[in-house]
Amino acid sequence: MQGFSTRAIHAGQVPDPTTGAVTTSIHTSSTYAQDGVGGTRGGYEYSRSANPTRTVLQDQLAALEGGKHAHAFGSGMGATDTLLRILLKPGDHLVIPHDAYGGTFRLVDKVLSGFGVEHTPVDLADHDALRAALRPTTRVVWCETPTNPLLGIADIAVLAGVAHEAGARLVVDNTFASPYLQTPLALGADVVVHSTTKYVGGHSDVVGGALVTDDDALSEQIAFVQNSTGSVPGPFDAWLTLRGAKTLAVRMERHCDNAERVAEMLSAHPAVASVLYPGLPGHPGHEVAAKQMRRFGGMVSFLAAGGRDAALRICAGTRLFTLAESLGGVESLIEHPGEMTHASTAGSMLEVPDSLVRLSVGIEDADDLLDDLRAALDAVR
Ligand SMILES: *Cc1c(COP(=O)(O)O)cnc(C)c1O
Repeated sequence: MQGFSTRAIHAGQVPDPTTGAVTTSIHTSSTYAQDGVGGTRGGYEYSRSANPTRTVLQDQLAALEGGKHAHAFGSGMGATDTLLRILLKPGDHLVIPHDAYGGTFRLVDKVLSGFGVEHTPVDLADHDALRAALRPTTRVVWCETPTNPLLGIADIAVLAGVAHEAGARLVVDNTFASPYLQTPLALGADVVVHSTTKYVGGHSDVVGGALVTDDDALSEQIAFVQNSTGSVPGPFDAWLTLRGAKTLAVRMERHCDNAERVAEMLSAHPAVASVLYPGLPGHPGHEVAAKQMRRFGGMVSFLAAGGRDAALRICAGTRLFTLAESLGGVESLIEHPGEMTHASTAGSMLEVPDSLVRLSVGIEDADDLLDDLRAALDAVR
């Protein structure tokens, strides 16, 4: 197999046969001429069903995850919704991580529950707790690793074994790691989910999602349900994501370099009670992460020693780290999960500590990032 960056830059991407254009074109057409009824050129008839720019992105994403089929969506939640509609019927049960992405928890807890789908939040690092949560009706084990925002680590190969033994599928939301750092299909997962809004797109300028699988029948169902429900990316969005993903490897290396420096600095700062980063040897998931990830990623969370008030002041006190939701872009972001990204988990089992601060460490110069964070932390000592 070719190396990661070669696939990112070439998979599915060939110069245009008529003009020689080296980069992929943005095909805005909603409809396609047919040579006689049903005589499509390359299978394109209507852009909800398929679009040439989207096809190139899908080929690229499949190659990056080492999977057979990729489907690009209008958002990560669109991808998640489509997948769960296929895998779950009324009366079915799924296991979700106890610190699942807030939007995933909301979809399961507030929307799918209305269709008779049941769920149990579990700490997926606790394999006994997972086994205890499984029911005869469990169809899906949903995994995120590293988790958001607590940076917990789950052992994908072990979870695949446990899920398959119970007749369930293992779905891995690979948004935090990106396919550069971790490829769950190779570890036994059945489906990989992405919010391509984050590292894959990488520039905070487009919302998108993807599903990747080796399962031919499931891939056909995904295409059918996506076409039936319409959660497709527009051609410009597909193109932005395609362009962003070409530089994923170099960006991820720099995100990891910078996050390691940030985690180290935070660990030594008196305004920080504890640092959550799987790259630190003291992290409970460090060994599993080292086994299944190339490096440890660009997300770092920490608990402020001064509690909620200090956490809010740190979030308001940085200048280079922008106070904003989302993650995975070139620019560094800071946020307070309890009152921002994870506000919808308040009062539930998934509620996060109110002293928690989450950083998406960007690819600026590390020294500038450290100076900025240090100043905000010094101000609350
Ligand atoms: C952002 C995110 C999602 C949702 O994706 P959208 O593109 O925002 O719809 C799902 N999972 C994780 C881990 C995320 O960070």
